[in-house]
Amino acid sequence: RRVVIIGGGAGGPSTAAEAGRRDPSLAITMIEKGEYISYAACPMPYYIGDVIKDEKKLIARTPEKFREGGVDVRTGVEAENVDLAAQVVTLVGGEALPFDVLVLATGTRPILPGIPGEDREGVFTLKQLPDAVGIKQFIRESRCRTAIIVGAGFIGMEMCEAFREAGVETTVVNRGSMPVPRWDPELGQLVVKSLLDHQIRMMADTTIQAIEKGETCRLRLITDQGKIEADVILLAIGVRPSVGLAGEMGLALGKTGAVAVDFSQKTSHPAVYAVGDCCEAYHRVSRRWVHIPLGDIANKQGRVAGCNIGGFPTIFPGIVGAQAFKLFDLEIAATGLDEREALAAGFHPVSNLVWGDVVPLSVPGTTRLGLKLIADEATGLFLGAQAIGPHGAVSRINTLSAALWSGLSIDEVAYLDLAYSPPFSRAWDLIHIAAQDLMKKMVRRPPR
Ligand code: FAD
Repeated sequence: RRVVIIGGGAGGPSTAAEAGRRDPSLAITMIEKGEYISYAACPMPYYIGDVIKDEKKLIARTPEKFREGGVDVRTGVEAENVDLAAQVVTLVGGEALPFDVLVLATGTRPILPGIPGEDREGVFTLKQLPDAVGIKQFIRESRCRTAIIVGAGFIGMEMCEAFREAGVETTVVNRGSMPVPRWDPELGQLVVKSLLDHQIRMMADTTIQAIEKGETCRLRLITDQGKIEADVILLAIGVRPSVGLAGEMGLALGKTGAVAVDFSQKTSHPAVYAVGDCCEAYHRVSRRWVHIPLGDIANKQGRVAGCNIGGFPTIFPGIVGAQAFKLFDLEIAATGLDEREALAAGFHPVSNLVWGDVVPLSVPGTTRLGLKLIADEATGLFLGAQAIGPHGAVSRINTLSAALWSGLSIDEVAYLDLAYSPPFSRAWDLIHIAAQDLMKKMVRRPPR
């Protein structure tokens, strides 16, 4: 059987590797319009900040390695059109690739604001490895001193640190009042403080209008709150799933606009799979199909599709929305639903936010952690969590992700058996304290 995979980022290579392992007789071709395949996009901010010196360190597997494994990898090649009836992919330039199985792993593309001057030299988006290489080179070669980051999502935040590491003075311009809106504003205050502590300027509630040639610096950003100048501008206002080919093929798209798939990663056409950022995933807490474009999900979906294509029926059991990032000395993590998502999913959310020490006060060097929990008032079901602090936020969110995965109630979370030892935690961990505190706010229910 001939398998054609469109897209060589994370999901495509994961599919190719697994399908080839499961069934070495498959004739697998992976096409990628860019020059790199199988690279980690997630560490790109650390590469730009020069914590990672060499871009080659971001590449997981080279085309040569894939070719040794029997996968025909073609880079610099774009799929232009798919004829589903004839089962043929046509490449830009006219070459036809017939397939028995097609995999869409086309990822996302960055949203552009659509303002005059957004295509000027020195204005970047950060999506693929060449973007990261281009930004790093530009900063170095143009002796860039100042940067503006438009957008305060997790990539914008990671890039604040990267620019600081590279010695570039940075201003964040954000349309909303708080950065990282997934996190409660009270936790977001810690993010704002961290930015200010590291001399990052923050312009909130600001709408960008145009980018012009600057006077003191290369570029000038016009906003409804005034003008600012910088040598480089990064547009980090979000991504959309790349579904052009899927749409033209007539594949079903979900409500999110990403490709609709089933639990085996099959699309609405039996010969076509989709994996990664271009498709939806099943959220085990909201019980809805969502679009959460993250690398770990792409890798897992790719493996599941590869198993199925290789004759080893497998399901992708879904996600709970776990996510983390680092900002200077803060760990910032969340999982499950926030109140707005919980309401939309038909729950009756009740929440609390507790602040506490990670380890006993008697242990020198303890740090404070903010932990927010959300539960369903009607059923007691635990729904989501957010945490921020210098230590222990990610490990607690990972623990709570496992609780969400298993469908625990908030009273079960309140008595979870967690390892306790003073250098790491308290006998009543912040997880227990927050869950017990939240239970007090809730109507008492009979034991399950
Ligand atoms: P991509 O990696 O986007 O790959 C899709 C590929 O398809 C692209 O290379 C594209 O060129 C190719 N393509 C598209 N159309 C065609 C066509 N017609 N023909 C040929 N090729 C085509 N995720 C996390 O989980 N944790 C993190 O900490 C994290 N940090 C991130 C930091 C940054 C700066 C960025 C940009 C992303 C980060 N992500 C993170 C997200 C993660 O990188 C993505 O979820 C992951 O790359 C998705 O993999 P994918 O294969 O679905 O899509």
